[in-house]
Amino acid sequence: MNDESTNGRSFARHSSLVTRHFSLVTRSPEETVNFGRELAKEVQPPCLVLLEGELGSGKTTLVKGILATLASVPEDEVTSPSFTLVHEFAEGRAYHVDLYRVEGPRDLATLGLDDLLDRDATVLIEWGEKFGGEVPRPCVRIRCEHLGRDERRITVERLER
Ligand code: ADP
Ligand code: MG
Repeated sequence: MNDESTNGRSFARHSSLVTRHFSLVTRSPEETVNFGRELAKEVQPPCLVLLEGELGSGKTTLVKGILATLASVPEDEVTSPSFTLVHEFAEGRAYHVDLYRVEGPRDLATLGLDDLLDRDATVLIEWGEKFGGEVPRPCVRIRCEHLGRDERRITVERLER
C-alpha cells in the first residue's frame, strides 16, 4: 500500500497500514498528534520506532500522539530528550530517545540502547538516521518532511527483521 491523503483522519480507514509503506500529509500539529494516536496500535511493544527528518519536521509532535495512546502520557509531558537522551514512560512500557547530540558509534554505545531493546517496550528514537546497525526487533521507520508552514509529510514503513 502506498497512499497519500490530505488529512489525518483518513488514516483510520487503513487498518493494517504498515505492512509496507504508508504516507500522508498533515496540515496542523493536531493532525499529526491524531495520526500518532492511530499509529500507536501498530507499534505495540516490543517495537523499535526510528523517527527521521530535520529539526521541526514533527517527530516529537508525532511521538506525543503515539505515547498518549500507548502509555496514557499527557501531551505536555513529551518533549525532545535532547539533553537527557532517554525518557522512560509507564514503568518501562515505552522509551523516548533523541540522538540529536550523538556524534558517533562510541556515543551511541554509552546510551545503553541494547538494554532498552531487549525489553518488552516500544522504543521511539528521534534522529533514527543515527541508529545504524541491525534492526533488532519489529521495527517501523517514520520519515517526517517539512513541506510548508504547517504541512508535514509523514511516511511510515515497516522494516523486515
Ligand atoms: P522535531 O521533533 O522533528 O524537531 P517538533 O515536533 O518538535 O519537531 O516540532 C514541530 C513544530 O512544527 C512544532 O512547533 C509544531 O507546532 C509545528 N507544526 C506546524 N505544523 C505541523 C504539522 N502539520 N505537524 C507537526 N508539527 C507541526
Ligand atoms: Mg524532536
